[in-house]
Amino acid sequence: MIERTADTQPHSLYEDVSRQFNRAADLMELNPNIRKILAMTMNEVVVNFPVRMEDGRIEMFTGYRVQHSNANGPFKGGLRFHPTVSIDEVRALASWMSWKGAIVHIPFGGAKGGIQMDPADYSLKEIERITRRFTYALGNTIGPEYDIPAPDVNTNAQIMAWMLDTYLSTVPPHDRNRSLHVVTGKPVESGGSLGRNKATGQGVVFCIERWAEANDFSLDGATFTVQGFGNVGSWVGRLMQQLGARLVAVEDVTGAIAGAGGIDAEALTEHVAKTGGVAGFPGTEVIDSEAFFRTKADIFIPAALESQITSETAPWLNVRLVAEGANGPTTPEGDLILSERKIHVLPDILANAGGVVVSYFEWLQNKRSESWELEEIDNKLRKKMNRGYDRVKEMSDQYKTDWRTAAYIVALRHLEAIYKDKGIYP
Ligand code: GLU
Repeated sequence: MIERTADTQPHSLYEDVSRQFNRAADLMELNPNIRKILAMTMNEVVVNFPVRMEDGRIEMFTGYRVQHSNANGPFKGGLRFHPTVSIDEVRALASWMSWKGAIVHIPFGGAKGGIQMDPADYSLKEIERITRRFTYALGNTIGPEYDIPAPDVNTNAQIMAWMLDTYLSTVPPHDRNRSLHVVTGKPVESGGSLGRNKATGQGVVFCIERWAEANDFSLDGATFTVQGFGNVGSWVGRLMQQLGARLVAVEDVTGAIAGAGGIDAEALTEHVAKTGGVAGFPGTEVIDSEAFFRTKADIFIPAALESQITSETAPWLNVRLVAEGANGPTTPEGDLILSERKIHVLPDILANAGGVVVSYFEWLQNKRSESWELEEIDNKLRKKMNRGYDRVKEMSDQYKTDWRTAAYIVALRHLEAIYKDKGIYP
């Protein structure tokens, strides 16, 4: 049983992960030795580095890369630029990457990193210099066959292009063409994959479609709400709309808006690109955060930051399904309430795995000097998401447990099997 604590206050995210992990490990009776290994991160790198600002000043930055596990393949995971980035947050995010890869069966381990900063405080030129200096400071911590970064909160294809260029400048010329896969989520012209930009949102929607099919639920005419309208939220909004679903409320850092008749996700995406947030979108009503959480809809998609569905907000939700586009949006206390209230959860480590799945496809295309059609990528992604979904469902039935715990069990079984086969050196 999960104890209730003050999850609405700042708290250790890695402790939340440990509680989720322990619950699954107890239930499945995970091998105690393997449990000890996976309960800890493997490598933790902290770099402090100087960058010259446009006015000539030098500013110091702190960057992180935490590598949780490479039992399943090279370390893999995004980099975020955000004021909340800390060693605790990055540890949690790195371990979630390990579970994700194991659930959808792609040969990657887990890592995560970032810089503690607010990109809004810097010019584009400064962000470029910060990115390049961070890449240089990371040195051999990353590498195309060792640890492969990707975009995350406040980072994008442009940042990946700068990372690629900086990394390639540090390797001998004859190695450059075989090092393209040092980062994924690159611009398509610079070795990126079609479909990578929308991949996380697309994966969430494929997962929702699978759930709808299994529950005889029509998405055509269904209603949904989204928290966060960045890459993941805006793609989920647009793709759900293409299936006939209606977006009725959105919240982001600039505020919350509602429109019972439906908010046009395409037009809202353009508005956010122009103004930086959902606030001021014409034809909608301004609501507060509580009203946003209380909005009646069929599906809620958190696609922003961690610890949003808590002991405070979980009782407010008026939906059938929570499909987690963000990493760690639900605290263990929030989970308990959702489960008591019989609100079904498609957990982050399953639902948002589409991003890293298409990162894997990008990585493969780079290694093979290929470029795949979008249709092929979408078909392959749907297959990966559906298989992951079915594995989690099977474990949930077998252990009669919630889907988050079931998702952990799928991941831990996979990693346990790898350790059992290979053993521990020496
Ligand atoms: N940042 C994304 C995530 O949290 C994608 C990671 C990747 O593609 O490596 O899953």
